[in-house]
Amino acid sequence: MPAPLLGKSLEELTEWVQAQGQPSYRGKQLYQWIYQQGARSLQDITVFSKAWRQAMAHIDLGRSALHHRVVASDGTIKYLLRLADGQIIETVGIPSAKRLTVCVSSQVGCPMACDFCATGKGGFMRNLATHEIVDQVLTVQEDFGQRVSHIVFMGMGEPLLNAANTVAAIRCLNRDVGIGQRAITLSTVGVPGRIRALAAEQLQVTLAVSLHASNQAQRLRLIPSAGAYPLEVLLDECREYVQLTGRRVTFEYILLAGLNDQPTNAAELAQHLRGFQSHVNLIPYNPIDEADYQRPSEVSIRTFVAELEKRKIAVTVRYSRGLGENAACGQLRASRR
Ligand code: SAH
Repeated sequence: MPAPLLGKSLEELTEWVQAQGQPSYRGKQLYQWIYQQGARSLQDITVFSKAWRQAMAHIDLGRSALHHRVVASDGTIKYLLRLADGQIIETVGIPSAKRLTVCVSSQVGCPMACDFCATGKGGFMRNLATHEIVDQVLTVQEDFGQRVSHIVFMGMGEPLLNAANTVAAIRCLNRDVGIGQRAITLSTVGVPGRIRALAAEQLQVTLAVSLHASNQAQRLRLIPSAGAYPLEVLLDECREYVQLTGRRVTFEYILLAGLNDQPTNAAELAQHLRGFQSHVNLIPYNPIDEADYQRPSEVSIRTFVAELEKRKIAVTVRYSRGLGENAACGQLRASRR
C-alpha cells in the first residue's frame, strides 16, 4: 500500500503528481483539495479527469471514518474515529468565545499506565501515523465548519513516545493547515531525554508537563514510568527546554482529594518551581470508573491556588469540558468499543 497523501507538503505532492505523469500544477490543486476543500478521497477531486481518478483508485488520502459522535450540553463534541486498520481513537472539539480547540490523540491507547487515567487503564495498541494525527484536526474543522485555532496533544497516548510522527504532524498542521505553532500545546508525562530532543526541533509550541505530585515518592505512586525518571531530572530537562526555546513551560497538576491537594503539597511544589519560567495548571480530578480517587472540594482547590499565589507562582485552574456524557478523557472509547 502506498503511503497516504495527507501529511505531505506542497512540494511532496507536486513531486508525487509528476511521478504519476501529471503536470506539476496538479500538485497545487491536490494540495488545496486535501487541506482546504476537505477531500476525503481522490474521487472527490472533480478538477481531475474521471479516467485519472479511476486509475488512481488505489491511492488513499488517509482520512478516518466517523464511528461515533456525542455533542455535550456545553457545545463540546467528542468523536470516536475509525482508522484504516479498524482501530478507534478519541478526538474532542472544544468551542469557546473566540477559539476552537482540538484535543488530539497521538497513540491508540497508551503504555504509561498512569493510575488516574482511563486511557492508561486500557493498555497500548500502536502509535498513530502522521496523517492520522492531522486527520483529527481536519475532521473537527470540517464538522464545526469553523477554522481550528488551537490544538492540544491531550487525547489518548504519550506524544513523546511517538515523537517523530508527532513532530511531523505539528509541522504539517502549522505549514499546511495554517495553525500557529504558539497555538499548539504538547502535553507529556515525561520520557527521559525526549524533552531535550524536542527542544532541539526548534518549534514554538507550548510544552505542558504532567507533574501531578510535589515529590518523587508521591509521583511514583501515580505514575509508574516516573521510576526511571526522578522528579529532579525531569525538572532539569524542563529548565533546559526553557533555555533552548525561550518558551515557558506549563506544569499540569491533577488535584486528588486527600492525596496531593494539601497546603504542604502546594508549598513543596512552589519550592521546586521557584525562579522557574513556568505556569501551573491545576486540573481537578475527573472521576473515572477504573479508579477510586476523589475530586477535591472547591474550598481545597481555592486554598491550593492561594498557597501557590502567595509564593508568586503563576497558576490557573482548568475545568474539564463536556462532562456528563461519558465524559472524562478516554471514557467514551472505553464505553463504545
Ligand atoms: N500523555 C500525555 C497526555 C495525556 S492527557 C500526558 O501525560 O501529559 C492530558 C492530561 O490529562 C494529562 O495531564 C493527564 O495526566 C490528564 N488526565 C488524565 N486522566 C485524567 C483524569 N481522570 N482527570 C484529570 N486529568 C486527567
